[in-house]
Amino acid sequence: MNLILLGPPGAGKGTQAQRLVERFGIVQLSTGDMLRAAVKAGTALGTQAKAIMEAGELVPDDLMVALIAERIDEPDCAQGFILDGFPRTVAQAEALDHMLAERGLALDKVVAMEVDEEALIQRIVGRFSCADCGAGYHDQFKRPAVEGVCDQCGSTNFTRRADDNRETMIARLAAYHEQTAPIIPHYEAGGRFARVDGSGGIEAISAAIVAVLEGAGAAGGR
Ligand code: ADP
Ligand code: ADP
Ligand code: ZN
Repeated sequence: MNLILLGPPGAGKGTQAQRLVERFGIVQLSTGDMLRAAVKAGTALGTQAKAIMEAGELVPDDLMVALIAERIDEPDCAQGFILDGFPRTVAQAEALDHMLAERGLALDKVVAMEVDEEALIQRIVGRFSCADCGAGYHDQFKRPAVEGVCDQCGSTNFTRRADDNRETMIARLAAYHEQTAPIIPHYEAGGRFARVDGSGGIEAISAAIVAVLEGAGAAGGR
C-alpha cells in the first residue's frame, strides 16, 4: 500500500503516519525528518536546506525529488510507504508520477487532512518530540503518560523544532497555500483522493483514515 498524507503544517500527518506504520507495517517517508537529519549531519543538502527551513520556505524541487527517488529504491519500501510532506509543489507531484511509473508502482490513496488555521498554529507551537525515537508529543494535546518520560522508548530527552514558532509558522502556512494546495486538483481527478476531517481527536482521525484505506481495498485483513 502506497499512500500520500497531505495537509498543512500541524495537520497531524506525522502523528497519523506513525500509527499507520504500526498498523500496516509500511514505512513513513517524512521529507522534513530526512532534511532535519541532513542538517544535523552537516551534509551538502543539509547545508543548503538549513536557512530555507528556518525561514519557513520550501527547499528546491530538484533536491527534494532526488532525495525521495533515492529513498523509495531502498528495500524497506517494497512493502509500501507513506509519503509525509512530499509532494509539496505541482512540480514535485509530476516528478512523483514519473518516478512511480518508471518503477511500476502506483498510489493507492491520497488522504488530505483538513484543520482550521488557529488550531494548526496551536498544534505547532506546542509540538515536541522524543530526541531518541522521534515519537511526537504536544504540550496540551498529547503529553507522555509519565511526565518527562517517552511512552515509546523511556527516554527523558525531548526536542523542539527551530521552525515551530508562530512567526515561521505564518510563512509555512503561506507556502502551503501558495505552493502545496495547488497539487490537490492533481489528485482529485484521479479517484484515489479522500478528504478527512483532521480537527477531532487523534483516535477518531485514525479511525477515519483507516476506514478510507479499507474502503480502498488496499488494507488487508487486520
Ligand atoms: P504534521 O506532521 O502534519 O506537521 P504532527 O503530526 O506533527 O503534524 O502534529 C502537530 C502537533 O499536533 C503535534 O504536537 C501532535 O502531537 C499534535 N496533534 C496531532 N494530531 C492531533 C489531534 N488530532 N489533536 C490535537 N493535537 C494533535
Ligand atoms: P510539517 O510537519 O510542519 O508539515 P515538515 O517537517 O514536513 O513540516 O517540513 C519542514 C520543512 O522542511 C518545510 O518547512 C520545508 O522547508 C522543508 N521541506 C520538507 N519537505 C519538503 C518538500 N517536499 N519540498 C520542499 N521543502 C520541504
Ligand atoms: Zn522515545
